Amino acid sequence: MRSIRVVADPSTATLAVLKTLQDGVSKGPFKDRVPEAKKAWASKTSSIAKREAFDDIKKLLTEACWGARRCNYCEDSVADEIEHFRPKDWYPDVAFAWSNYLYACGPCNGPKSNLFPLFATQGSAAVQELVPRKENDPIVPPPNGDPVLIDPRNEDPMKFLFLDIEGNLHFAPRSDLLKGSREEQRALWTIKLLHLNDRDDLVKARVTTLSALRTALAVAYVAKVAPGTLPAGLNAIDARRAVSETPHRFVWEEIVRHRNAVPAYQKMFAAGPEALAW
Ligand SMILES: [Zn+2]
Repeated sequence: MRSIRVVADPSTATLAVLKTLQDGVSKGPFKDRVPEAKKAWASKTSSIAKREAFDDIKKLLTEACWGARRCNYCEDSVADEIEHFRPKDWYPDVAFAWSNYLYACGPCNGPKSNLFPLFATQGSAAVQELVPRKENDPIVPPPNGDPVLIDPRNEDPMKFLFLDIEGNLHFAPRSDLLKGSREEQRALWTIKLLHLNDRDDLVKARVTTLSALRTALAVAYVAKVAPGTLPAGLNAIDARRAVSETPHRFVWEEIVRHRNAVPAYQKMFAAGPEALAW
């Protein structure tokens, strides 16, 4: 959920290709825009200019990942495909919008696909699910409304989610969110929709990551307070790398956020505050 950083802007050539593709889709009635968007997406590598544009997009999204290229939702699985945060089935007018792109893995993209819950009524926290369209359903636009799913590309998931690093490594809504608020609903739905707590491998990966990050922090601490005592091969540079290149960024940021509640973390960060910027 936190595995993507600020993304650099694409080149003007890439943006021009996206605009041309989008202009080709966003004309005519809505019922035509959806199939047009799908068709244009399917042939997005059909010319040299388009191929170069999408290579550029993939490169920028890859560079924005912490460490290896991993799914921006679950932080764990390798991500091959560019994903639309707003699905093109419902939002053909952003099928070629740069800010709508991120990386997703199959297990995250599968259950999400067309299920894109909305707060359809202004001011209310009631959630409306978009039911996936069937073959002969009329192609009508979705209700006007704000997305419920947290967008890790454009929002900070830390504002909504808490990761229980002292317990079972499950996500939960932050305890300071008002019960029944939109923010709480967004956290709950994101956890449910992406199965962030009930994919065993995912939880296990967070457990392993937590051990690795605690070890790295301890190595950095010893390097700081008693450098001569570190066994050969252990050093602060590698410790920093272990932190800054883990794709499970949320685990690290939760350690940082809760450092003052855990005496061991408090002590280590007090001795080496530079780790706060890792
Ligand atoms: Zn994923």
